[in-house]
Amino acid sequence: MLILVANLGSTSFKYRLFRMEEHGGEVIAKGAYERVTDYAAVIDEALATLQRDGIIRRADEIDAVGFKTVLGKDLSGCVFADQTVIDALEGFTAVAPAHNPPYAAGIRQFGKSLPTARLVALFETAFYQWTSAASATYAVPARWRDIGIRRYGFHGASHKFIAERSAELCGREDVARVARRLYLDGPQPVAGSPFRVVSCHLGGSSSVTGIRNGMAIGSSMGFSPQSGVPQNNRVGDLDSGAIPYAMHTLGISLDEAARQLTKESGLLGLSGISNDIRDVYTAAAAGHPEARLALDTLVHSIRHWAGAFHFELGGLEALVFTAGIGENGVAIRAAVCQHLESFGIHLDAGRNAACWATEAVISTADSPVKIIVIPANEELVLAREVFRKLS
Ligand code: ADP
Repeated sequence: MLILVANLGSTSFKYRLFRMEEHGGEVIAKGAYERVTDYAAVIDEALATLQRDGIIRRADEIDAVGFKTVLGKDLSGCVFADQTVIDALEGFTAVAPAHNPPYAAGIRQFGKSLPTARLVALFETAFYQWTSAASATYAVPARWRDIGIRRYGFHGASHKFIAERSAELCGREDVARVARRLYLDGPQPVAGSPFRVVSCHLGGSSSVTGIRNGMAIGSSMGFSPQSGVPQNNRVGDLDSGAIPYAMHTLGISLDEAARQLTKESGLLGLSGISNDIRDVYTAAAAGHPEARLALDTLVHSIRHWAGAFHFELGGLEALVFTAGIGENGVAIRAAVCQHLESFGIHLDAGRNAACWATEAVISTADSPVKIIVIPANEELVLAREVFRKLS
């Protein structure tokens, strides 16, 4: 089955074309366009390039297009990308202004350019569809809840992949099977002992998710991808009382406060140096105190959320690191795991130091909790879900 995964940014269009089969898949072509003003033109250009390069003979050989949509009003899951999806995306443009309009435009355009292909949207919130009402609810008045203000959770594609892969690596094929079929069958009971995971997706944006028997119980990201762990230039968790106080005291508008919290906060705001953790590390090593504080604050927040889910899960079988910082950040992983031996979390310093961007168990051989690094590949995750839905 040929599946094109479309990654639509506010001014970019990237794609990967996968050939998917029952037991895996491979990328057979990819492309990227920057400074996009007309999605119709670049999508048609990409389809023409695939034919010119001999990858496909006709555009209708592409069976499906997958979209990693972020957040839809009143809609989530892995669903066919029809007008309902476009309406859901446009209903929440105010919450995800950089993400929702390009996906709505892209889905419309693919519907015209590839009328025979099935269009599938996988919402980043999909993995959290079955979290409890208590964990999804903010204590706000009913009229706020009525307009959709609740905890959604994000990075769902990445964390669901961790749910599957961690179960496979820990010999829990029963849980892996439930996790793989989650969007088809919903959560299913698992016989025997529970399989509990804390998944740390640490990258340009970061989130920590608790997973029981293949299903998320909650995430550090709540109503928007703005919350939770400090991000590259986004604030993460912030007391709601700070916003009116900063507006009054600094004399800034609501729009300006929102801009500063999304563009000038996080690692960049704390360090004053960079939104890339590698630069922050270099500065911290050279004795820069704000850079040190940025790293310590990030680690503190990851531990805070990991600890919350560990407690809620009532135990832990695996602690997983994924995405750019999770896969490469030897020192961050060491700091997150420090002094947790009484919880059964024993990091092997040598294995940790030797693990760069590769799948590996980095706990000691006798650690009750397995600590695992699993590389993220969100396009492949998306292609797999589309394949499962259509198979
Ligand atoms: P995104 O969320 O943008 O997809 P990634 O998952 O690719 O981001 O993660 C990007 C981040 O990973 C970079 O900002 C950088 O801080 C971090 N990173 C990449 N390589 C390394 C490395 N070798 N060591 C530590 N951190 C790294």
